[in-house]
Amino acid sequence: MAEKRRIYLDHAATTPVKPQVLEAMLPYFTERFGNPSSIYSYGREASRALQDARERVAAVLNCDPREVIFTSGGTESDNLAIKGVAWHARLHNRGNHIITTAIEHHAVLHSCQYLEKFGFEVTYLPVDKYGLVSLSDVEAAIRPDTVLISVMYANNEIGTVEPIEEIGSLARERGIAFHTDAVQAAGYLDLDVRKLKVDLLSLSAHKFYGPKGVGVLYVRKGTPILYQQQGGSQEMNRRAGTENVPGIVGTGVALELAYRCRDEEVRHARELRDRLIEGIMRRIPFAYLTGHPELRLPNNASFCIEFVESEGLLLSLDLKGICASSGSACTSGSIEPSHVLRAIGVPAPLAHGSLRLTVGSDNTAEEIDYTLAVLEEVVERLRRLSPRAKEFEARRASLGVGRP
Ligand code: PLP
Repeated sequence: MAEKRRIYLDHAATTPVKPQVLEAMLPYFTERFGNPSSIYSYGREASRALQDARERVAAVLNCDPREVIFTSGGTESDNLAIKGVAWHARLHNRGNHIITTAIEHHAVLHSCQYLEKFGFEVTYLPVDKYGLVSLSDVEAAIRPDTVLISVMYANNEIGTVEPIEEIGSLARERGIAFHTDAVQAAGYLDLDVRKLKVDLLSLSAHKFYGPKGVGVLYVRKGTPILYQQQGGSQEMNRRAGTENVPGIVGTGVALELAYRCRDEEVRHARELRDRLIEGIMRRIPFAYLTGHPELRLPNNASFCIEFVESEGLLLSLDLKGICASSGSACTSGSIEPSHVLRAIGVPAPLAHGSLRLTVGSDNTAEEIDYTLAVLEEVVERLRRLSPRAKEFEARRASLGVGRP
């Protein structure tokens, strides 16, 4: 039986490993399996591979390779940045206050909430209807005891890109450590840490066609941080544990590749994203773009579609082979609108119809056109079956929107 056609439109969730990346990784599972801490030839070989990966990452970040720490992913990088700076401040009695935003990834938000249990105070800045944080809000939130500002580079649900360079200047002028979660930005936005004026920056390899379970934390030299994982002296005593050598090799190659091809990838993604946005806005009534219309990731097309429920929508799309996601987190059978959609002020009934489509290298215009046709048909069917079908028909009639 022929395999069902599948169209993957969830690159914000994860990406496939590129063949060149896999090829670079493979020998480190087999003939070059050494532990980088061993002194004999196998170990030296593995250690050289780590150094090579560190240099590749540093070249993209425009930093010293010694400022690059490999971790187990974006989640660990965020945890380490936030808890590391906070606990260092506690140890040295330097301050107790952290500033972040209401739309961060849970790796950041839950790290902050954890710290609150120990008496740290956290300001969760609001964002506007596009998901943008305001510079004057950041400035106004700064207190004499502020030790850390953490603002994501680009949002994972709605794709909005935050003014990192400007916040970086603010933080640096005041001597406050500044962290950015750049997990979704990688591959699309400039990661030059000097330009961005960040002290800490998190990356996750599986978002830029590298392997899962590997991340990077950039820590600017001199940043006050207390490292969180004790054990051996790996990662220059900053993150104990035998290194994931194949994963780290893959991370270096994937990031280098992503930045070598960045202009082309951005152009390709933007073209498909705009085709999706334009098609959905034209063909599906009562569909609203979420996130900023211009200051958004080139691969992110996210919406709220009224009179449909995300769960039914995603299942129907899956039946047609289309892989997409929503901005909702399923908790014990009930679908709660995400904290991001709540923060940008989307009313609950509308937030229940969220849809996130994130394109990638291998998607084609033909796939987008197929998706648009399927989406139009599925949304129409779900609306007819919806408990709000009558309300939908009345709204459609009052707007003079005809049946497609
Ligand atoms: N931060 C953001 C913005 C993300 O989108 C993600 C993953 O979706 C993470 C952090 C966590 O990264 P990882 O999956 O590598 O733990």
